[in-house]
Amino acid sequence: MSKYEQYKKDVLKYGQMMLNKGYTVGTGGNVSMLVDGEDVLAITPSNREYMDLTPADICIVDFDMNIIEGKYNPSRETGLHIAVYKNRLDANAVIHSHPIYSSIFALINKPVPAIFDEVTIGIGNVTDIIPYALSGSDELVDNVKTKLSNRCNCYILQNHGALSIGANIGKAFRNLELMEKASRIYYHALSTGEKATALPSDMADLLFQLMKAEQDNEIERKKSQIK
Ligand SMILES: [Zn+2]
Repeated sequence: MSKYEQYKKDVLKYGQMMLNKGYTVGTGGNVSMLVDGEDVLAITPSNREYMDLTPADICIVDFDMNIIEGKYNPSRETGLHIAVYKNRLDANAVIHSHPIYSSIFALINKPVPAIFDEVTIGIGNVTDIIPYALSGSDELVDNVKTKLSNRCNCYILQNHGALSIGANIGKAFRNLELMEKASRIYYHALSTGEKATALPSDMADLLFQLMKAEQDNEIERKKSQIK
């Protein structure tokens, strides 16, 4: 049995959950987990039906895109996932999805502000828009890198979909759900024609600081592994 077996099982489980909860259709989106202590990730293969996959079909890839295990090509967004792990040491899981309501904001090119406590403490003070570039392109990876320093856990990819990250796969998935819930409610609030309120900025800042303190703990843990 592969030493990466549990990562493969979890990546498959959350890929299928993403599909079953309607956060993507068909073979769209991709899910990865960073292998603890290694520059290696487990990621869904390219262009394969989630419900047909078994754990053995999940790709194990290093940061130079060498395939360590797996018979299929890894997701074409693998470079994007690697960029997140290299630039955000607090991240151990990445989910790229195509959720409906978040994707509305990907079209009107409008960030979703901090509107609820639970969302702000989970994903930060804004869900910002990453400018459009073709799926799988180096340009898209560069555009993602420029936004990662805002320390938020969710992003909207203009005219494409969404990106959520977390300290583990469960949190990355929960962040996706929080982003989609907030986007759904914000969309309906804007549709009333009334002004939608955001959290008071001092409260949004406080909740965001709490979230960043949790990220800092994980960053310290990773740095101590490197030494
Ligand atoms: Zn996509």
